[in-house]
Amino acid sequence: MAEHMDPEEFRRAGYAVVDWIADYWTTLGQRPVTSQDPPGAVAAALPAGPTERGEPVEAVLADLDSVIAPRLTHWQHPGFFGYFPANTSGPSVLGDLVSSGLGVQGMLWATGPACTELETVMLDWLAGLLDLPERFRSTGRGGGVIQDSASSATLVATLAALHRASKGRWRVDGIDRRYRAYTSTQGHSSIEKAARIAGLGADGVRAVEVDPRTQAMRPEALRTAIEADRAAGVTPAIVVATIGTTSTTAVDPLPEIGAICAEYGVWLHVDAAYAGAAAVCPELRWSHAGLEHADSYCFDPHKWLLTGFDCDAFWVADRGELIEALTVMPEFLRNAATESGAVLDYRDWQVPLGRRFRALKLWFVLRWYGVEGLRAHIRTGVALADRFAERIEADDRFELAAAHPFSLVCFRLRAGDEPNAELLRRVNDTGRVHLTHTRVEGRYTLRLAVGSPLTTEKQVDEAWDLLSAAAEGLLAG
Ligand SMILES: *Cc1c(COP(=O)(O)O)cnc(C)c1O
Repeated sequence: MAEHMDPEEFRRAGYAVVDWIADYWTTLGQRPVTSQDPPGAVAAALPAGPTERGEPVEAVLADLDSVIAPRLTHWQHPGFFGYFPANTSGPSVLGDLVSSGLGVQGMLWATGPACTELETVMLDWLAGLLDLPERFRSTGRGGGVIQDSASSATLVATLAALHRASKGRWRVDGIDRRYRAYTSTQGHSSIEKAARIAGLGADGVRAVEVDPRTQAMRPEALRTAIEADRAAGVTPAIVVATIGTTSTTAVDPLPEIGAICAEYGVWLHVDAAYAGAAAVCPELRWSHAGLEHADSYCFDPHKWLLTGFDCDAFWVADRGELIEALTVMPEFLRNAATESGAVLDYRDWQVPLGRRFRALKLWFVLRWYGVEGLRAHIRTGVALADRFAERIEADDRFELAAAHPFSLVCFRLRAGDEPNAELLRRVNDTGRVHLTHTRVEGRYTLRLAVGSPLTTEKQVDEAWDLLSAAAEGLLAG
């Protein structure tokens, strides 16, 4: 065997790998959605170390079939309804393959000009597609960048907010006094993590109460919290509002929250990790009303917009603030393009230095689907969720636990927590579908999130049939 895989060998093996993926997608619906094996099964099936002599790719593909694929949770399965979708698509995989083949490091404009410029243009395209406020476009003072995840977007927004709140002292003195972040009780756990990493301390995040009917942040409660903190000598640094909370897809009232942030000079970051994708459809853009108040905004094309993980789209209204917060210039990175001021260096927009050419998969996805295709994908998800919710509403044994404006339905049996947990276990044990759960106002609640491009009415109806049959057994017993 050659020491390196030469281009001809790569071509041959590459076709085999693409075939393997295509076969996997074709047969996905016949597999159980989750693995039934106990912890350690995969590790036990692997050798203790690498082989002494190299092996052909076919040997790895055989083990993919026997060792790996049977012990996965199949996120692209048509019966996968857990968490939020993390969907991918053919064009996304192909764009990512090109990125891998190019192996470009896009940390500076100078280390891969097309890598930086395509990313800037893709984020401007996306901003147009979602009809985001003008202030986020790179043609003005704003701009977008790809982060690995919404968690990183929140961390970076927190750092920029601290920079603003401390008038830049943060960079020199560190955390020289007490600063605070605010989100609703339904805000994502990454907000607390970002505050911890940023050094805000254990009580660095205030969880603002929500309206129990909508699960959305109560603006008056936010105002009260900010005023109490200011009176106590704590500086409000950032408010993270959510469009589409993880638990129930609640939408925080941005117009009111934005006005409060403006009044007190607090950075407003809007986390639309899952539901942001909905804004490709004009009829769903009501969810983004008030976004013109935000200093930063993010959503995950890797959740509901057919682009494989990792791809979080993050925008700021004033890129200067972000760059000032994060830039560090060592001698070995100095270059004429950066010094000219005519280019963007995305290393200054994120935590790591190095970065992959992730704009390629977005480019492939946006061009393959077109605006029309992306809208059709979102509308299908919403319609399937509506169809499922209608079944729930029409059956007296069940109730909806929250509104379902996007493609997530929260529901439960009209019974206690234990029967509901048992219902989830029984339905998931069939291996045909996979749902997860949350708690709404303290009560155990099942979640059905639609998003796989393979999901059709067939799987949604099957999920309903399985739930209905399991409920019958449960309520009879
Ligand atoms: C999923 C989710 C996140 C975290 O997403 P990552 O991209 O995996 O970090 C953050 N916020 C909300 C509202 C989410 O639903």
